[in-house]
Amino acid sequence: MTRVRLLVFNPALPVLDYRLPAGLAVEFGQLVMAPLGPRQVLGIVWEPERLGGDEVPESKLRPILEVLPVPPLSTPLRRLIEWCADYYVAPINAVARMALGSMAALRGGGTTTEYRLSGEEPKRLTPQRAAAMDALHGEQASIRELAEYAGVSEGVLRGMVGAGILEPVTVDLDRPYPQARPDFAQPKLSEAQQAAADRFVSAVKEHKFVPFLLDGVTGSGKTECYFEAVAEAIREKRQVLVLLPEIALTENFLRRFEARFGVPPILWHSSLKQSERRRAWRAIVSGQAQVVVGARSALFMPYRQLGLIVVDEAHEVSFKQDDGVRYNARDVAVIRARFESIPVILASATPALESLQLAEAGVYTKIDLPDRFGGATLPDVSIVDLRKEAPERGRWLAPRLVEEMRERLARGEQSLLFLNRRGYAPLTLCRHCGYRFQCPNCSAWLVEHRLSRRLACHHCGHEVPPPEACPECQTPDCLVACGPGVERIADEVAEVLPDARVAVVTSDTLNSPEKISEFVAAAEEKLIDVIVGTQIVTKGYHFPELTLVGVVDADLGLEGGDLRAAERTYQQVAQVAGRAGRGEKPGEVLIQTRHPEAAVIAALAAGDRDAFYEAEAEARKDAFAPPFGRWAAIIVSSEDEAEARDAARAIGGTRPDLPDVMVLGPAPAPLSLLRGRYRYRLLINARRSAKLQDVIRAWLAPLQFAQGVRVSVDIDPYSFV
Ligand code: ADP
Ligand code: ZN
Repeated sequence: MTRVRLLVFNPALPVLDYRLPAGLAVEFGQLVMAPLGPRQVLGIVWEPERLGGDEVPESKLRPILEVLPVPPLSTPLRRLIEWCADYYVAPINAVARMALGSMAALRGGGTTTEYRLSGEEPKRLTPQRAAAMDALHGEQASIRELAEYAGVSEGVLRGMVGAGILEPVTVDLDRPYPQARPDFAQPKLSEAQQAAADRFVSAVKEHKFVPFLLDGVTGSGKTECYFEAVAEAIREKRQVLVLLPEIALTENFLRRFEARFGVPPILWHSSLKQSERRRAWRAIVSGQAQVVVGARSALFMPYRQLGLIVVDEAHEVSFKQDDGVRYNARDVAVIRARFESIPVILASATPALESLQLAEAGVYTKIDLPDRFGGATLPDVSIVDLRKEAPERGRWLAPRLVEEMRERLARGEQSLLFLNRRGYAPLTLCRHCGYRFQCPNCSAWLVEHRLSRRLACHHCGHEVPPPEACPECQTPDCLVACGPGVERIADEVAEVLPDARVAVVTSDTLNSPEKISEFVAAAEEKLIDVIVGTQIVTKGYHFPELTLVGVVDADLGLEGGDLRAAERTYQQVAQVAGRAGRGEKPGEVLIQTRHPEAAVIAALAAGDRDAFYEAEAEARKDAFAPPFGRWAAIIVSSEDEAEARDAARAIGGTRPDLPDVMVLGPAPAPLSLLRGRYRYRLLINARRSAKLQDVIRAWLAPLQFAQGVRVSVDIDPYSFV
């Protein structure tokens, strides 16, 4: 080939043609540098007929400059990128961007310099240096990363390098990872587990696309089963990707992985240090990385040869990305497995209705693990009807729940209280004038966090210290908290059970791997009697002495009125219930609610999962909701309210008139102001017969908007705010 078509990373010009200079050879998927005006751009060599683009006369072509020294993106990955761009109505270069590491990683390995404390005791310390020394204990990273981490300027740290307090360390970016050993510690599987593992192992051996739905109750040993498939892929010298929903899960998971395979897996997530990112990306693309465990972004990495994908806790909503390219990693994982011709395992105790339907339709192969491992039984669930058993005034825990906790405390067992609300109280107002503290950038209340003494917005991160007086009426000491968050529940536990040792567990308190390890160790050593936590405690943890779970407010999730509210409530409560009674002692679950008659609560109480899914399926059928129909959203935003409204109206004004596509809106979004941008939404409900993406593309293509307007399409949306 003498001319090449490139996918380039320029929003306005995604496809450009170039000439291949004599002596330079390229393959499809290769990463190259090319001239664009006075600058250079990164490009990916692509099959020309798959991209479209204008035919440029031969004479006008400029030559590409350089082929980067990394292997080409594989054909299955290129097909996946095209598929995602098409399905999610997203720019193809935005999708492709997710496969790339940093520019430095593309340039080659070599070494980089990082810094760490030298152990030298300085004679005299400025307060800033002292603070930095405290913060940087055990850390090693670039000056920039350390400065951010310690909250001091880079200048301060450079001074500390000069004074010998910090020392440079040379890091080899291509140093190999230790090799996992498939037979390091093989567990003895139960009969049901072995049967499941055998199915997975033979699919891995056959290098065949098989989508599995591993549907097993909490504590059934799903992880042990898919570890056998991981082991087989390692034996076959193929790579494995394990997607986990949250970083919180990894700590626990890493320990188990290491116990099984002798070494930790390779991590991929957004808060990796730069040198770790470069090293991991290079090991992934070279094939040296055997098992990668990561959040959803790990899905688009350029694995050299995948042998297996696992999506653990596959029902989790955090697999859905809600900015940039709005994709669902669970669904894309299945598509990637198809292009790679490998098995994919979706593991869950509470699968999404969509996944169950696909299993029923025979698209997914369903593997069941109906029993807990080792004879542990599922906990007994009972309902606390808050209308009949009301907590005392100003309290949130019903007397029966407190009594059960008291008994656990007396027996030396542990309790877990679940409330999916961070902070002390979701709303703060002035007792005198009723002023409500609202975020200046979002249409949302500021949430009081007493432990860290601040009022914070959970959408944009804006925070202020609690003021001494009301900003409206100037009355001092006038703030009242409305409603409970986990911190307030923890205070209540301290009042009713003064001897109990209470731990608040949220993403605020467990914000580093060290803190997670400390928490797990403390809980295992029984240094904690009562855990009060958000959804971060609903999965992954295994505390044998935990015998009581209290759901503080089961109605909370049902209020939002969003499409999947009932399903999400079911999943969350079932998952947190699954923390109880995992050891030899049986567990008990108390669910506080004002709506015991709601189908989801009744199903939870009866332990009748099928009844819940049946009711849910009926409701969705009636609404033509997924999987029986399809949804999409168009979100219009601008810093200028009128601009956003006009753009939304223009879109609404040219809505397609089709029998199988219904358009709702435009209307101001429930979060009508987010991070300083005004937002409008249109919601599209389509029958399965409609070619939804084509309809949306044809609809939006001719429209032009003011400069500051952003229009994004959300296919199969999860968020309705
Ligand atoms: P799940 O993911 O289905 O909730 P896990 O894989 O976490 O279940 O297993 C629950 C607990 O039982 C874990 O502590 C795990 O180590 C243990 N376990 C499961 N299967 C076995 C086995 N075959 N041998 C030993 N321990 C097992
Ligand atoms: Zn905000």
